[in-house]
Amino acid sequence: MKTQQLTDFSRLCVHTITTKPLSIESAVNKYAALGIRGITVWRDALAEDGAAATGRLIRDAGLEIVSLCRGGFFPSVSKEKRAIAVADNLRALEEAADMEAPLVVLVCGADSGQSLETSRLQIRAGIENILPRAEKLGVKLAVEPLHPVYADTRSAISTMKQANDMANWFNSPSLGVAVDVYHVWWDEELPGEIARCGENGKIFAFHICDWKVPVNDILNDRGLMGEGCIDIRGIRGLVEGAGFEGFNEVEIFSEIYWKTDQDKFLDKITEAYLLHS
Ligand code: ZN
Repeated sequence: MKTQQLTDFSRLCVHTITTKPLSIESAVNKYAALGIRGITVWRDALAEDGAAATGRLIRDAGLEIVSLCRGGFFPSVSKEKRAIAVADNLRALEEAADMEAPLVVLVCGADSGQSLETSRLQIRAGIENILPRAEKLGVKLAVEPLHPVYADTRSAISTMKQANDMANWFNSPSLGVAVDVYHVWWDEELPGEIARCGENGKIFAFHICDWKVPVNDILNDRGLMGEGCIDIRGIRGLVEGAGFEGFNEVEIFSEIYWKTDQDKFLDKITEAYLLHS
């Protein structure tokens, strides 16, 4: 079945990190003026007067808060650092609640000084420590699998299968998965694992961008939709086929685009969204 082309911006969300040079006020105003309906707020973009004020600013402009990015980074060889990570995640949950964000995305972390298996056990322990508070606050958590190239320091959870297994182990309606095309496009098990995630009602977020060929900087050279080799529309078809009805979130880290005029970049985003997402 062919996935239908997007024809409007009713499900378009942009991450503040995508337009990193803009202040939160400026980002909100520019997104709203273009008809972009959703915003995911990175914690470094929170307004100086706090999360609650940021939430009001966004709602007053008519935008919907899709999620707060990000929590996670649970594993460490140091017990003290693991405790610091839990405390920071609890703070992120309070910020999300204050701004009325429904979801905190987890980049789960890894420590190259220990095995991936140990890091995954520490991720599980970290989530165990914060999940009750998330449930109490009514804030959901989404485990985002990261491309295995990041398994050294950013995420010991590299595949949709591992993310699904983690979410299923807890079996909480407050814990699900964030599907980011940049991280999972290469995985032959993707269709089956997206279907499995959807069956359990656990697709909580969908992030889009593209994988440039070649990628010059694995972290900060993400492409605009259509600039690379990811079948973005095909993967959108999979998540929608699995029951996902949420936002398509444009998340682009790019040293190149951050240096360009952000108004022109936002025009390119809206155009690429309709043509290539
Ligand atoms: Zn993402």
